[in-house]
Amino acid sequence: MSEPTVLRSREAMEEIERQLLAPYAQHSRDSRGRLHPETPHPYRTEYQRDGARIIHSQAFRRLEYKTQVFLSGTGDHLRTRLTHTMEVASIGRSIARSLGLNEYLTEAITLAHDLGHPPFGHSGEKTLDERMRGHGGFDHNAQSLRIVERIEKKYPHVDGLNLTYELLEGLQKHRKLFDPPFWDGAPLPEAEGRRERVEPYPSPSLEAQIADIADEIAYYSHDLDDGLEFHLITPAQLEEIDLWVATREEILSRYPDLEGRELFAYIIRSMIDRTVEDVIGESLRRLRAAGVRTATDVRYHPEWLIAYSAPMAASKRRLRRFLYQQIYFHPDIREVNDRCSALLRELFDAYLEHPEWLGETSARRIPEDGLHRVVCDYLSGMTDRYLLEEYERRLGPV
Ligand code: MG
Repeated sequence: MSEPTVLRSREAMEEIERQLLAPYAQHSRDSRGRLHPETPHPYRTEYQRDGARIIHSQAFRRLEYKTQVFLSGTGDHLRTRLTHTMEVASIGRSIARSLGLNEYLTEAITLAHDLGHPPFGHSGEKTLDERMRGHGGFDHNAQSLRIVERIEKKYPHVDGLNLTYELLEGLQKHRKLFDPPFWDGAPLPEAEGRRERVEPYPSPSLEAQIADIADEIAYYSHDLDDGLEFHLITPAQLEEIDLWVATREEILSRYPDLEGRELFAYIIRSMIDRTVEDVIGESLRRLRAAGVRTATDVRYHPEWLIAYSAPMAASKRRLRRFLYQQIYFHPDIREVNDRCSALLRELFDAYLEHPEWLGETSARRIPEDGLHRVVCDYLSGMTDRYLLEEYERRLGPV
């Protein structure tokens, strides 16, 4: 009998990355590290650790009971924030792997990307933003960062999950310039002896760019799927979506007898496939044309390099318009979410009057963060069902 396989150490994993990944990938060995320096793990890379920290967080577990589009609990097949997140991770990993980029970093960013969503989807977000006017507002992207940097409590004497620089960078969204994480006057951590100042830059890592596009690919397709399942839209309406029509025609040329749910399911699946293939092709073309050689080149490149081709981008814009008109602003969806958001609003005001209702850990943050922010953190962290229960407990039947 031969000896069992030797432990695959972190160093060995880093060496595998060096051999497998493209030079412009974000290699875990080159991480700028964490705000609070930690001893490297014996057999996990930095981004594997980040991913595990997110999966083991409280905010991640709550994604299961948060609205994606449809109120949590509306139907057993409908997406929740958690299943959405897992679809994004799966799409993101496929793209990253095929482009020779760091799958673990992409995966970790996707797992964290929606942690900051409040209950009741976008309607809940709007309500909190209104309530936070004059107190810094509310935005789910900023909240995702706040959760992993401040609210989660896992380590002694440390706020947040102490994630890597690259993970936090990937959670900064919709910015013209990326502020280097840990920038609030804190010195950059010592990572492989690198301590130079970092100026804000226009693009995040390719892995973060993938996480962003994978999010869009996932929800564009699964919201159509859920819309059909929930009878918010009819197949006839989909005739105006060129991506749907082209995909269907291509499928019917191979499987002329497909129809009904079986056909729709296969169209949805094939739309994802087509889009992913388009993104891989276009991104490769852009990477070559840009001539980037390192992950730093990517960050200082003025345009994002992970992208749809021009025709696909146009199709996606049409699809997006359709989704907004026919699903997100559909009266059945809006009414439920608006009704629930009114409860959120009332509960917010009630908490301002009764800070003693806050949990002990939250209450401790009031002197530093202010009552409004702490109430906002507390309520935005709730799941749909917990908020409804809490309302009944405090203010009476809904
Ligand atoms: Mg998302």
